[in-house]
Amino acid sequence: MSTHWHVLGAGSLGSLWATRLARAGLPVKLILRDAARLAAYEAAGGLTLVEQGQEQRFAIAAETLDADTPIERLLVACKAYDAEAAVTRLASRLTPGADLLLLQNGLGSQDAVAARVPHARCLFASSTEGAFRDGDWRVVFAGHGFTWLGDVAHPQPPYWLDDLTLAGIPHEWNTQILTRLWRKLALNCAINPLTVLYDCRNGGLLEHHCEVATLCAELAELLECCGQPAAALDLPSEVERVIQATAANYSSMYQDVAQGRRTEIGYLLGYACAAAARHHLNLPHLSRLYNRLVAHLTAKGLPST
Ligand code: NAP
Repeated sequence: MSTHWHVLGAGSLGSLWATRLARAGLPVKLILRDAARLAAYEAAGGLTLVEQGQEQRFAIAAETLDADTPIERLLVACKAYDAEAAVTRLASRLTPGADLLLLQNGLGSQDAVAARVPHARCLFASSTEGAFRDGDWRVVFAGHGFTWLGDVAHPQPPYWLDDLTLAGIPHEWNTQILTRLWRKLALNCAINPLTVLYDCRNGGLLEHHCEVATLCAELAELLECCGQPAAALDLPSEVERVIQATAANYSSMYQDVAQGRRTEIGYLLGYACAAAARHHLNLPHLSRLYNRLVAHLTAKGLPST
């Protein structure tokens, strides 16, 4: 019998992982925030995965944060701003040598989580898969992609990557996971805030080419200064390529703001500006962008952290 996967957070990505693991016959348990959410989940009869128009429901077992079953492997699938507090509530349930897989976008939340569970192994992930909820306990697999996983402390992959292969989750072990996370953060900082401020799809930034190029130059300087020169390589051309390739899409930050949801700004542009300040690096365009975004979110009554 393989080790149980506990999945913390049955949102878009957590449900996408949980349903695929369950479909492969692997033991999975969801961890939901409280008794009310657990009752709602049980009333729905499971999690539904919608893939290429086909729906399939999986009656995956679930429990609340306050359960006392031991946890050997935890997939953390909350938003970056919820991860530390949620994992802290589970820390006493982790078995010695437990593994945590952190799916959060951006940077900052991974270190905060790892500091709360010093005896566990924390793996970081960066994913290009896309999913969204079209209802409670329902997830739509919107964009096939890839997930890179790595451990900044140990280069050896865990044996259970085989579970991901069995579940059909495309993945690769990456010994430079921080470089990948920094690169993704830089792409996000160059594109997402401007789509919010200009109220446009990604392609709308083609009209703001100079502004994007200036931001890329400052972001590349930051990456170099933070010891991530590989993440800075050809950044402007990749940003341009992503804008072209995703011209018709609305960025994740745009969608969060449009739907009145909290953004992950504190772990993206906020993290970048804090890192620049730590290094006494003056990046005027990046910090102006941050101030404009904070003002915009505040005016909409949304948190700016
Ligand atoms: P999401 O749909 O908002 O799901 C987050 C889930 O976490 C929600 O179901 C929420 O519960 C749950 N949660 C929060 N605090 C909790 C707690 N204390 N205990 C139990 N559950 C808790 O978010 P997402 O889109 O899956 O994103 C998760 C992370 O993956 C983010 O960092 C995101 O940037 C990253 N990511 C997402 C995608 C994507 O396509 N969605 C792609 C790449 C990366 P409730 O339902 O009760 O609110």
